Amino acid sequence: MSVIEALIAALGDGSVEVLDLTTPLSRDTPILNLPAPFANTVGLSLSPVSNFDDAGPAWAWNDVSVGEHAGTHLDAPVHWISGRDGKSVDQIEPSRLIGPLVVIDKTAEVLEDPDFLLEPEHLRQWQEDHGMLPDNCWIIFRTGWSARGGNAADFVNADEAGPHTPGVSAAGARWIAGNASISGFGVETVGIDAGQAGTFDPMFPVHSFLLGADKYGVTSLCQVDRLPVLGATLIVAPLPIVGGTGSPARVYALVEAR
Ligand code: MN
Repeated sequence: MSVIEALIAALGDGSVEVLDLTTPLSRDTPILNLPAPFANTVGLSLSPVSNFDDAGPAWAWNDVSVGEHAGTHLDAPVHWISGRDGKSVDQIEPSRLIGPLVVIDKTAEVLEDPDFLLEPEHLRQWQEDHGMLPDNCWIIFRTGWSARGGNAADFVNADEAGPHTPGVSAAGARWIAGNASISGFGVETVGIDAGQAGTFDPMFPVHSFLLGADKYGVTSLCQVDRLPVLGATLIVAPLPIVGGTGSPARVYALVEAR
């Protein structure tokens, strides 16, 4: 049997399951909200072209308006000033968007401290526990945060000091950016940086270091608690918006049924 035949058979008999890690995209999907004076993006809106009416008696269709960075979406290098000479979303090779996923689970720590930050020591400890990171891998940062997705205020978790959501320290982001095995970094939160990352040095270090190193980010993932630490395959499928700095994306994981 060829590899593809084996995959098709495994998908057919359920021994490989397709998990959808995408947050459904609606007008209510939480989006990033920057403080003044910065401009903000928009979420999803649909405007009907026809709906089985005089404008189209047998067909329904909508026009879509949505920010590149709304809902579950990919950050391309050109999103950030450090990557401005890099790839736009349409230029990213598909082979970089499909790869082994590894899960770093800090759910318990985040429950204690919503501002929890991933540090190089956590990444090094993961490798001591599970071995070296596989080539072309995506790190999925499991925090349990998607459980708050049904409530916009809980999801943003802001007070007068701004949002409090987990992320990565500047040192942690530098470590990930410098690791040649890593293609991308996925999170359950609204952005790839911590809620307080505007106060870090440099500010928004995951954006700054990863996008500047031709690595990619994907946000607002759900069902992350169903992923094994190792052994699943991630498929990230953004729209190939020419010149786009990112795109809403469908994100799947192929997982061996347990
Ligand atoms: Mn983004």
